[in-house]
Amino acid sequence: MLSKKMSTVTPSFTIGISTKVAEMKRQGIDVISLSIGEPDFFTPEKAKEAGKQAIDQNKTKYDAAPGLLELRQAIVEKLKTENGLDYQVSDIVVSSGAKHSITNALMAMLDPGDEVLIPKPYWVSYPEMVKLTGGVPVFVETDKARDFKLTVADLEKVVTDRTKLIFITNPSNPSGAVYTEDELRPVVDYCVANGIYIIADEIYERICYLDSFTSIASLSEEAKAHTIVINGLSKSASMTGWRIGYTASRPEIAKAMGSLQGHLVSHPCTIAQWTAKEALTSCQADTAHMKQAYKARRDQATDILAKMKDVHVVKPDGAFYLFIDLSAYASKVSHGDSFSIAFCNKLLEDYKVAVVPGIAFGLDGFIRVSYAADIEEIKEGLRRIEELLTSL
Ligand code: PMP
Ligand code: GLU
Repeated sequence: MLSKKMSTVTPSFTIGISTKVAEMKRQGIDVISLSIGEPDFFTPEKAKEAGKQAIDQNKTKYDAAPGLLELRQAIVEKLKTENGLDYQVSDIVVSSGAKHSITNALMAMLDPGDEVLIPKPYWVSYPEMVKLTGGVPVFVETDKARDFKLTVADLEKVVTDRTKLIFITNPSNPSGAVYTEDELRPVVDYCVANGIYIIADEIYERICYLDSFTSIASLSEEAKAHTIVINGLSKSASMTGWRIGYTASRPEIAKAMGSLQGHLVSHPCTIAQWTAKEALTSCQADTAHMKQAYKARRDQATDILAKMKDVHVVKPDGAFYLFIDLSAYASKVSHGDSFSIAFCNKLLEDYKVAVVPGIAFGLDGFIRVSYAADIEEIKEGLRRIEELLTSL
């Protein structure tokens, strides 16, 4: 009954765990959820107001396939002032979340059998997205000593003449690592020299704790020509449910993605697009406030983890995740194929704390803890993790 490609696709781990947590909560079980990467703030008031006004003003009709002109203009302005990027409105496509932006890019660019490089650890959905769009995921091993940031030497081991695209997630989900300009430049130059296009997933860019953030496309004109910038409002404006993401790319790619989505979904919800426009133009203070809160939690959580025996955390300079190395405990937990799944199941069932197993991101010795949660819950969650570890 189902297509062959469905047999290779697994359900989303992150969404699966949060659904399980919701079910446990419905049954009255008190679970600490540090699993899904979803801001624990509300959508800013001004943005919500713009959404309400859009409804009252009957801005509820079909509109342009690549997105509302006013929103695309605001995105062009944002990319110019915040990232030093010079795009035209025709280079921008607004989609139903960054997930949709990424699949649009893959659909527009992949032929069957094209290889897509996915550095480890990777965000959970990339391999499945590549398989669904006819590509072949090729995983790239990276070095833990460099906080898993990709190098040219890592790339040289895997590039073939079928390599078409690479994902670079900056800041990283799941590790929170952020590339400096010096770390990015040789990798990007190598991709340009080898004709590899870059899917630059910068959805956490506004949640970066370093002094500056370098957008890949800003490195050079060639880098820009080889990059599809992925961004959205889910994280920076706490708009996960509104489903607005966007791309900036060269116009041929943007035109192809606009045509695709014109047939598949027409365009994202117009009301959500008006909300996103307001979020992008007048909610910087809200984003700054959220970032400060995440940073304070990051500091407290890393201090707590630093005191735990045989536990190591990848340096989190952005996003709101802690990618924690528990491989020293792997032999102490009886497990079948996956230590991290066995550990996370035990943590959820016996200690009522939900986190995501590292295997979802390609590294089984790890777990991912989201600190987009109340600080007391984070502290209690970490205390219970330590309790489980010491019991092993
Ligand atoms: N990329 C990364 C790295 C993410 O963590 C997420 C989170 N869902 C997405 C893309 C997709 O975001 P959206 O909610 O805009 O689809
Ligand atoms: N990106 C978030 C996460 O990694 C949200 C879940 C999802 O979209 O898969 O948890």
